[in-house]
Formats: sequence, C-alpha cells, structure tokens
Amino acid sequence: MDRYYVLGNPVEHSRSPYIHRFFADALHQKLSYEARLVPLDAFEQTVEGLKKEHFSGCNITVPFKEQAYRIADDLTARAEFAGAVNTLKYENGRLLGDNTDGEGLVTDLMRCGVALAGARILVLGAGGAARGILAPLLERNPSELVIANRTVQKAEVLAEHVKSIAGCSVRGTGYDQLKGHFDLVINATSSSISNNIPPLPADTIDSSTRAYDLMYSPVDTVFVTYAKSKGAEAWDGLGMLVCQAAESFFLWRGVRPETEELIRKLRSDMKK
Ligand code: NAP
Repeated sequence: MDRYYVLGNPVEHSRSPYIHRFFADALHQKLSYEARLVPLDAFEQTVEGLKKEHFSGCNITVPFKEQAYRIADDLTARAEFAGAVNTLKYENGRLLGDNTDGEGLVTDLMRCGVALAGARILVLGAGGAARGILAPLLERNPSELVIANRTVQKAEVLAEHVKSIAGCSVRGTGYDQLKGHFDLVINATSSSISNNIPPLPADTIDSSTRAYDLMYSPVDTVFVTYAKSKGAEAWDGLGMLVCQAAESFFLWRGVRPETEELIRKLRSDMKK
C-alpha cells in the first residue's frame, strides 16, 4: 500500500491525516496516511529513513518547510519561488518538492466567489506563508499588489523578489504608509494567534472589501471579526487548508478530490 505522512514538530494537532484519509475514501484510493513527530534536529535523517521504506510522499509542516526545500532533488516552479516545500513526492528514487499553499488559497478564494483579476490586493505579513501565496495571486492578474509588514524591510525585500514575475505594480511598505481602500485584504501574519490585528488605517477595509485570514478557528478570528465589523465579507483559512491538501493529493495520485463537503464537515466538527 502506498504510504504518506505529515512531518512536523509539533504535529499531533495536524488535520492532514483526517483530510487525506477522507479524500482517499471518497476516491476509493488504497493508501495510508500518518502523522509523524520529527525531532527538531532529525528532519533529513527521518526522510532518508522513509526513502528506505519506499514511502510515496509526505506533507511538511512547521518548522521543516525550508529544510524540505533544501533536500528536494527537484522543485516545482512555485516551490522554487516560495523558497519552501509543503509537499514531497518520492518517485523513481527522486524527491520532488512542491508548495501547494498558494494554489490552495487561490482555489478557496475562487470557491468563495472572490475576483482576483483587476483587484487591488493587500497582503499583510512577509513571512513564509506570505511568500508562498504571492506567485499564485500574481498569476491571476490583479491590478496592484501591496505587501505590508511590521518589519518594513522584509516587505520591501519580498516585493523586490516578486517584481520579476509580476504583471502589475508591486510594492512593500509599512502599515502606516497604506493609502485607500483595497478590494481584497489577506492576513498572512500570525497575529490572530495572539488575538491581535495588524495596525491598519481605518479606510483600508470597507464594506466592498473581501477579507481573508490564513489562520482558522472554530469561532471568527480577531481579523475576521474586525473585517466584518467594517461591513466586509470575510473568511478564515479552513478552506485553504483543505484546498492545499487537495492539491497535494492531486500531485501524488493524479486525481483531484472534491473539497466542499469536507470543508463543511470540518467546520461543523470544529464547532462541536
Ligand atoms: P512566519 O513566517 O512566522 O511570519 C509571521 C508574520 O506575521 C511576519 O510577517 C510577522 O511580522 C507577522 N506578525 C506576527 N505577529 C504580528 C503582530 N502581532 N502584528 C503584526 N504582524 C505580526 O509565519 P507564517 O509561516 O508566515 O504563518 C503565518 C500564518 O499563516 C499563521 O497563522 C499560519 O497558521 C497561517 N497559515 C495557514 C495556512 C492554511 O492552510 N490555512 C497555511 C500556511 C500558513 P514581522 O516580520 O514583523 O515579525
């Protein structure tokens, strides 16, 4: 039986085993999928061990995405661009590294009916998650993309990095330099974890803005609550989680799982 894993530390909270087993059942695919806690200093060693057991692939979560990028024999263009790998496929003795986070986000935004072409988009944050979502967002031809971050220099560096693939204006800035309304505001900071929101000017989000928080939780995150209080439609990252997993499943198995029913089920399970 083909064997898959999610590797992380911590990893016990991961919903990936549930999600991938759900996909496998729905598509009548025979496979196993387990979470494996990897010691912080033993990522490469763990993957070498899995290769000897002829595993088929794995997802990578915190804090190993950059290490996975470094050990992959081959990389997809989007993983190369993101500088991080969340999916490894092991085939013919070679490790292919991919990053499905950005495609997961864009797929979920489309599922929510959010238009990207021609949109003025603001990405909050300049860490790993922000870097992973920029290329798939830019592929959808927004009119402008602004990256705002607490540490302004990181936003500027990231904006320079993506300019070569952008067909629109891209710039990095601090929160206090933001001007005017945005059509889509994506919170790719980890601020919601500590119940904070980035210090946005009052006119950044209004009732015509669509807002998306990469973090997800059983109740509205503080960012989703804030956006809704300004009259905006807002979503959390549960759909992105499921859609990025569906993209990994597609890379491994060549079939694309349906996501709608699972997103609904996870949402209702989370609220129990
Ligand atoms: P990271 O690399 O550690 O970056 C964290 C970012 O958040 C940095 O830009 C940091 O700014 C900013 N930040 C942290 N606290 C802040 C605060 N109180 N106010 C303003 N900015 C703050 O983290 P990451 O890997 O990019 O992850 C970011 C979020 O995305 C996490 O919540 C993660 O759970 C989520 N995520 C979700 C999915 C999904 O499938 N739904 C997938 C990937 C990631 P500085 O640079 O100034 O420190």
